[in-house]
Amino acid sequence: MKTAASIIALAGITLSAPVHAKHHEGESGQDIAKPTATDAKKFVEETEKKAFDFSVDAARIYWINSTYINDDTDALAAKVGAQGTTMSVQAAIDAAKYKDVAGLDAETTRKLNKLRGGIVLPAPTTDGAATELNTIATKLNSSYGKGKGTLNGKEINGSDIEAAMGTNRNPDELSEMWDSWHSKVGAPMKDDYARMVEIANAGAKELGFSDVGAMWRSGYDMPADDFAQLTDKLWSQVKPLYDELHCYTRDKLNAQYGDEVQAKTGAIRADLLGNMWAQEWGNIYDIVAPEGAGDIGFDTTKLLNAKGYDALKMVKAGEGFFSSLGFEPLPQSFWDRSQFTKPADREVVCHASAWNIDNVDDIRIKMCIKVNGDDFVTIHHELGHNYYQRAYNQKSYLHLDGANDGFHEAIGDMIALSITPEYLVQVGLLESDKVPSADKDVGLLLRQAMDKVAFLPFGLLVDKWRWQVFSGDIKPADYTQAWHELKRQYQGITPPVERPADAFDPGAKYHIPGNTPYSRYFLARILQFQFYKAACDAAGWEGSLHRCSFYGNKEVGTRLNAMLELGASKPWPDALEAFTGTREMDGSAMISYFQPLMNWLQEENKGKACGW
Ligand SMILES: [Zn+2]
Repeated sequence: MKTAASIIALAGITLSAPVHAKHHEGESGQDIAKPTATDAKKFVEETEKKAFDFSVDAARIYWINSTYINDDTDALAAKVGAQGTTMSVQAAIDAAKYKDVAGLDAETTRKLNKLRGGIVLPAPTTDGAATELNTIATKLNSSYGKGKGTLNGKEINGSDIEAAMGTNRNPDELSEMWDSWHSKVGAPMKDDYARMVEIANAGAKELGFSDVGAMWRSGYDMPADDFAQLTDKLWSQVKPLYDELHCYTRDKLNAQYGDEVQAKTGAIRADLLGNMWAQEWGNIYDIVAPEGAGDIGFDTTKLLNAKGYDALKMVKAGEGFFSSLGFEPLPQSFWDRSQFTKPADREVVCHASAWNIDNVDDIRIKMCIKVNGDDFVTIHHELGHNYYQRAYNQKSYLHLDGANDGFHEAIGDMIALSITPEYLVQVGLLESDKVPSADKDVGLLLRQAMDKVAFLPFGLLVDKWRWQVFSGDIKPADYTQAWHELKRQYQGITPPVERPADAFDPGAKYHIPGNTPYSRYFLARILQFQFYKAACDAAGWEGSLHRCSFYGNKEVGTRLNAMLELGASKPWPDALEAFTGTREMDGSAMISYFQPLMNWLQEENKGKACGW
């Protein structure tokens, strides 16, 4: 995860905005009834200047709030959040007025579009609409946060039920948790959600979009329809791998639970996959693990401890990865100001994040590092965000971001993929004779695929549902049925129990009441493998892709930097080309990465009736 510098992104987190503004003609003294291209350019420049300054103050306040939580810092953070929202809403409304001005240059057009489309949930300027939208959005968000399900008739909160779905192997209890969570959390939101869609669509229309879904799809340097087609194309590339994984997993679940619970054919019961939304299946790896694949011969946590690593030394190792590619060392302020370990005397947010405070060089990570293999990987991931942020720091404010919203996470994840046994040998953590042999590949890859491959159809369908909801193709009466139809179609998943007529099951997934666009997660899963393969190709790696290490390769660093330093200043195909040599997002690298697993799964699935 990262924290974006831009107030646009901050506004995205804070939902809709209190727009009491009846436009603001006259306020600045300029006549914007007939604006010119020069006015537009000036407006963009002024907005960027204002937003830049604001973002630095805001980032400092958020930083203090996250590393020293108390009533005072909460109040400061809430205040600056509201200010940021108001600013981005006003900027969007103003930008919409300039969008059709004759003679705009390409750069100004892109920046106007970014401002115009920069609010996740826009309110129209009609009296009371912003307040109503804000009230509904806040209510949806907090009712999710307070949501409870039941286990054996007893109430259980969100984080506990999520954890229990991962470890519980009793099909009756799983079904109870799944059903109660969806019914108790989702159903009460239904009318509010439908009303929210109505208001936000009116807001999107005022900003010049056909509906909110089209507004969300406008951030990808292509017509909204083309973007939808692009995601379909990517899915068709990786679907064969998902199909094999689905088939294999269904068989293992059948062996575990019997025909009564999970049949050998058809869709998989949604509550058996170790996750409330069946979006990642890694929690049931114990059920699907191939015989003898558990022991890969080493344990990163043990290696780190044996070599005397502490939090600081782990971060230094992360920096060393980037230095080996030719990136400048991190600035002294990074070491002085980051939070590496949990302070003993105060409340902090431990969730790992990467920060860009001053849009220049004051980059930091905030973690509560423990000396273990997971945190070693997370450090590399978070630093990926920091190096990206620093690489584009010469760009103007609206370009201080990833090339599209899938890029930032994909960079972090690409770096995380590079923590291979070969890399551990290169940095002196692992003896070269302890590198696991090829017969361990299937276990290693299956464990990764249960999360990364299993996620793909879910990552795709969340916004497929929402795009159709916002466009009106899915009506409120069909919300839940359409959701489960998409889950069946794309994931091959079916609810464990029949859904009541008043259900609103999509509401039981945080990003729906939370109004967080979801396509970015799908893109990031695809892109990280494309980036990783590009790096390995540039390094001349010839073995199996998933074993590649490009540690120490300056040529890879140079190419990577060519993409990173563009930030969001050019359409994303330009950025992609700078690193990978192609302008197309492409799922085939993911297929190459998992090829040994694919071969093995096809062998395992021989004679089974795959599909659903
Ligand atoms: Zn991240």
